[in-house]
Amino acid sequence: MEKKTVLTKIGIPRAMSYYNNFLFYYGFFKSLGVEVVLSDKTTTATINEGTKYVVSDTCFPIKVYAGHVINLLNKGCDVIFVPSIQSTGYKVNNCSKIRGLPEIIRNIINRPFIMIEPTLDKTENIGLYDFCKNTACQLGITDTKEIKKAMDAGWEMYNSFMEMTKSGISYNEALNNALNGKFVKKSVDIVKPLSVVIMAHGYNLFDERISLNLIKKLEKMGVKVYTSLNISREQQQEALKKLGEIQYWANELELTGCAAHYLLNKKVDGIIALSAFGCGPDSLMVDEISHHCKEKGMPLIHLTIDEHTGEAGFITRIEAFVDMLMRKKRNTLIQNAKPKAKADIINIKKEKILTGSAK
Ligand code: SF4
Repeated sequence: MEKKTVLTKIGIPRAMSYYNNFLFYYGFFKSLGVEVVLSDKTTTATINEGTKYVVSDTCFPIKVYAGHVINLLNKGCDVIFVPSIQSTGYKVNNCSKIRGLPEIIRNIINRPFIMIEPTLDKTENIGLYDFCKNTACQLGITDTKEIKKAMDAGWEMYNSFMEMTKSGISYNEALNNALNGKFVKKSVDIVKPLSVVIMAHGYNLFDERISLNLIKKLEKMGVKVYTSLNISREQQQEALKKLGEIQYWANELELTGCAAHYLLNKKVDGIIALSAFGCGPDSLMVDEISHHCKEKGMPLIHLTIDEHTGEAGFITRIEAFVDMLMRKKRNTLIQNAKPKAKADIINIKKEKILTGSAK
């Protein structure tokens, strides 16, 4: 019988599901003895390259994804992992672009390469084990024990990453720690005068070029930033339930569930929704949360991004929002304070509040 060739190298585009699942993928492939090659970080050139291949009304993250596939091919990597994540729970769906990602890439990139394209579709009973087995089989690995062991290795890396981010460690730091076998937790939650939560897909928020470095910009303004990685999946589910919403979209927990948690716990001064221009699911989820924010008097700003978003206008909108939050907080403090403290607060300069020295 002819022995099946085992592929020993796989390229992962640094886009889409990379931002949520990379540590699982990495642990899984490493355990199988498959070397992982990552595309370079997103740059304007990656975006321009991807945009050439995709019709203009396709959403921004898919254009970026195409740019990353091209980047891998240009690096000489001709085995590329392009999963089709259809649903992550029973009738908990992804949008058509995420579901059909392998088809999109096959149809737009007319260059020879091997696409490793497993499917995850829990609605159709195609779970994570099937997804992993299918991936391994496409690479030429069929040993069930080896596959299960690789899944455990994937979970171990993923869980370590999630524990670190839940404690408040930043995305990049937790990623590097997990890759280097380090486990560090933050024990003190730094309090800042203002705090916000960002509701966004990981692939929009943690890609520093796509998000135009939104987290760092806010932190520079003295704002504490929370994201979906700071809370557990159970907390997101619970908040969604308490708000009376159901999970329809696969990313609903990351977006609506996360925003709902901070909204209900009154833990933040405002909510920033960051989404790609023209994204159908996001517009529904942002609408849902906006409605609840209006009811509860929570400020919300919706920032949309695409390949034409200019940094100057983006910063102006963030600054205006932060400024408004600061004035609102100051007025609330004045209203609730005793007369003597009231006079003191009125005398506090805006700059002092922003730098945190007014505490
Ligand atoms: S969820 Fe929205 S941004 Fe993400 S791939 Fe689908 S349409 Fe694009």
